[in-house]
Amino acid sequence: MRSIDVAPLPLSDLESHLDEVAIRRLHTGMEAARALLEGRTVWTVTPSAAVGAGPAETVSHLVGYARGLGLDARWLVLDAPAEFTQIAARLHAGIHGDRGDGGKLGDKQRDIYEHVLASNAENIVEELREDDVVILHDPPTAGLARAIKTTGATVVWRCHAGTQGGGEAADHAWAFLDRYLEDVDLTVVSRPEYRPPYIEEERCAVLAPSIDADSPKNRVLDLDEAWSVARLSGIFGGEPPFEAVPFLRHDGRADAFRGLEVEPVLAGGAVPLGRRVVTQVNRWDRLKGALELVEVFAQNISVLPDDAHLLLVGPAPDAERDAESAAYLAEVLERCSVLPESVAHRVHVAAVSMDDREVNATVVNAVQRVSSVVTQRSLVEAFGLTVAEAMWKKAPVVASAVGGIRDQIDDGVDGVLVDPADGAAWAQAVSDLLLFPERAAEMGAAAHESVRREFLPNRHLLDLLEILARAVA
Ligand code: UDP
Repeated sequence: MRSIDVAPLPLSDLESHLDEVAIRRLHTGMEAARALLEGRTVWTVTPSAAVGAGPAETVSHLVGYARGLGLDARWLVLDAPAEFTQIAARLHAGIHGDRGDGGKLGDKQRDIYEHVLASNAENIVEELREDDVVILHDPPTAGLARAIKTTGATVVWRCHAGTQGGGEAADHAWAFLDRYLEDVDLTVVSRPEYRPPYIEEERCAVLAPSIDADSPKNRVLDLDEAWSVARLSGIFGGEPPFEAVPFLRHDGRADAFRGLEVEPVLAGGAVPLGRRVVTQVNRWDRLKGALELVEVFAQNISVLPDDAHLLLVGPAPDAERDAESAAYLAEVLERCSVLPESVAHRVHVAAVSMDDREVNATVVNAVQRVSSVVTQRSLVEAFGLTVAEAMWKKAPVVASAVGGIRDQIDDGVDGVLVDPADGAAWAQAVSDLLLFPERAAEMGAAAHESVRREFLPNRHLLDLLEILARAVA
């Protein structure tokens, strides 16, 4: 495993977003955290540290705040070959009820899974003490539980994926994981319905993620800054030169955003300035519904204002390590290439380099801010970080009424929920928000407040603390 350095984050950063009552609750909770965790190391293990991988997005700031409190919190990521990553992707899709095209996971895949995890376990096991707590994230890490348990440490396994009634595909993925989860003290899911079929209620807790309001992805950019980044990135049109804008790196260092070296727009050209833009930010995974979104936009174009453009933004996939994402992106581009000319120039697909993660995050931040509407038309979603990120930025969000998104959006109040099978409803909702900007602004303001109440790290830290207290009891 590799250790990821996490700079301590002061709680005062977080407090700047909270009211007095929330600050007091946070302080009381953090005193309790000190009492519970002093003298123990809290290890977090994620499959990867990549941006665009939900768990990494969610844990880095939690580890940072714990370190800021003076606790010994550490973050490790697996060392895994591509064949392991493919098995992980199939488990993830399976839990979401998606059979994928890789067939069943059999003995060969189990051998690879166990072999890779056995060598990863070596690093951590030799350092563990019995008072320590290890939080494993997602299916790729579940197989570490047995080796960790032999040290006497407490093991929590947190699964970010989930769907209700995932059918045969989900049963199969859970059956694969069954023997590994036996050694877990407490399983954590993001909704009660996502509890693995064989884990009793007493051994399961529910915890929703949060977003880091001060990260490059979410920190405040004023509209000028956001437009400058959006144009310098090459995703939006307009001739340079623009002023280089500063952006904050996670270590607190300010850097200048000078644009991307690789042209990110792969279809539709740069978005012309002055148009109203409906944006979806996603990984290139079929469950995110990008193909269907292009389809729905094209089919319902007459319902939308003439200057409405669709923009899909995701990471530039590494074709060697992540052939599936690369293939899905190719499918989306293929679909765009056969759109009628009248539609094609209004559908833009951008794949933003991951070479510098903070630049990627800054581009996502800017694009979410300059969009007129943000959408997330996922087919399934355990919890939509992109939804919370856009809501925090006061964007009016139109998202699928699926999974955890239903907990995030209060329909008609701080966003709009639509049935992912109903393309016309999506177009109507987007059109209404584009045509009534005051209504959109009201919804965006309510969205910001909802995230402040429910999806910032103070709530997450306090809930996590309760879970850890339960696990070590
Ligand atoms: N993301 C990113 N860069 C990209 C595309 C996505 O940083 O080019 C981030 C996005 O902002 C979000 C995360 O990847 O923080 C995706 O999390 P989400 O819960 O939406 O979906 P998941 O990928 O976990 O299924």
